[in-house]
Amino acid sequence: MLGFETRAIHAGQEPDPATGAVIPPIGLSTTFAQTAVNEPVGPYDYSRAGNPTRDGLERQIASLESARHGFAFASGLAAIDTVLRLLSPGDHVIFPHDAYGGTFRLLDRIHRPAGLLADPVDLTDPRALEAAWRPQTRLVLVETPSNPTLSIVDLRAVAEIGRERGGIVVVDNTFATPYLQRPIELGAHVVVHSLTKYLGGHSDVLGGFVALDDDELAERVRFGQKAVGAVLAPFDAYLTSRGVKTLAVRLDRQSDTAELLAQLLLEHPAVSRVLYPGLPEHPGHDVAKRQMSRFGGMLSFALAGGRAAAEQLVTRTRVFTLAESLGAVESLIEHPASMTHASVVGTALDVDPALVRLSVGLETAHDLAEDLRQALDSLGR
Ligand code: PLP
Repeated sequence: MLGFETRAIHAGQEPDPATGAVIPPIGLSTTFAQTAVNEPVGPYDYSRAGNPTRDGLERQIASLESARHGFAFASGLAAIDTVLRLLSPGDHVIFPHDAYGGTFRLLDRIHRPAGLLADPVDLTDPRALEAAWRPQTRLVLVETPSNPTLSIVDLRAVAEIGRERGGIVVVDNTFATPYLQRPIELGAHVVVHSLTKYLGGHSDVLGGFVALDDDELAERVRFGQKAVGAVLAPFDAYLTSRGVKTLAVRLDRQSDTAELLAQLLLEHPAVSRVLYPGLPEHPGHDVAKRQMSRFGGMLSFALAGGRAAAEQLVTRTRVFTLAESLGAVESLIEHPASMTHASVVGTALDVDPALVRLSVGLETAHDLAEDLRQALDSLGR
């Protein structure tokens, strides 16, 4: 098989057979001519059901995830929603006790009222998964590294338990991306993504993805994509394909810089705890080393001065921008308890208010380090 970087550039991105254009044209047409009733000229009839630009992206990312099927959606949550719609009222879902706030809100406020049962579980402990499994459990959703605590779940162990008991094992691979971790190779059934993050990579596309191997499940996801229509627009599919081509070089640099910043934070007296799976003292370090090729560009840390210090710090950086989201070329800083994870406040998923999350971008590493240092040194002033 061709290497990861080669497939990132060429899978699903073949030159246009009509013109030889090396970059396939963006297929903006919503409808496609037919020569007779229900006999379209080519493989498409209507863009909600299938579109050449989206199709190219779907083949590109499916190839990177070692999956046979891929489906692109209008957002990460639309992708997760489509997977949850594979279930029926009365079915039970196990999800991470530190899940992304929007995933929790989707389960709690949309799917629970529609009849799904759902329990948060600390999936870093596979025995906790076994203990929480009920006769009605149909699906386990995993995030690793998780958002924002960067906890690590042993994918092979969880996939084995899920498969043994007949459940669907779904991994949100947004933080790691297929460059660092490929859950389907480790036994998961389904991978979901927010394309908005590393795969798009430039903070200019909102999108989601579902990758999977099983033909029957794939047909059901395809039907959900077409029947609901939360599909990725052609221009956004083009931008995402362009982003994916540089995923490997971006993540290598981002991992290098994140490692450097984790070290700086460890040594700063204003910081009480650093959460980065690349640090040997991180509880998930050994598992991360086994299942990830690098440790990625996301890290969180707690401030000794608590919430007040965290809220102050995020306004003191000059290169890191205070903003939600992650995974792009710009470095971002945020306060999860009041921003990305505000929807879990007061629930079992509550986030430490002393925590600050960084998404490390591609600026000069020295500038990022100096920026963090001056912001930390300024606390209390
Ligand atoms: N999964 C994770 C881990 C995320 O961080 C996010 C967004 O932050 C999502 C899913 C949702 O993706 P989107 O914002 O594209 O709907």
